[in-house]
Amino acid sequence: MPVGFIIFFIIVLILVIAGFVFTFAMMFNPKFKAKLIGKQLEANKYMVDEHKDDIKSISDDVAEATKGATKTTARAIKEGLKDFVYCKYCGAEIEADSKFCKVCGKKQ
Ligand SMILES: [Zn+2]
Repeated sequence: MPVGFIIFFIIVLILVIAGFVFTFAMMFNPKFKAKLIGKQLEANKYMVDEHKDDIKSISDDVAEATKGATKTTARAIKEGLKDFVYCKYCGAEIEADSKFCKVCGKKQ
């Protein structure tokens, strides 16, 4: 057997064992898990700090791009929350709490 193959096999074996150890440590040791999550959070915080301006610029662009859609959605929600009734005189759809019909102008 070539030496390269044996070395490769040993490296793969070590990586597999390390993977198992890591997984079990994650599963059964809350302290280890917390430490790793803490590190991940630290990394995220660093990343956010480092790219604050980019993130702000992206969220501004997204806000600008979705402005119209957000307005439409907000309007739809508002409309959906309203109760509608039909005008007694002309049959137009009007808000339940309106005093006058906005189509024919008659008192409800
Ligand atoms: Zn009416």
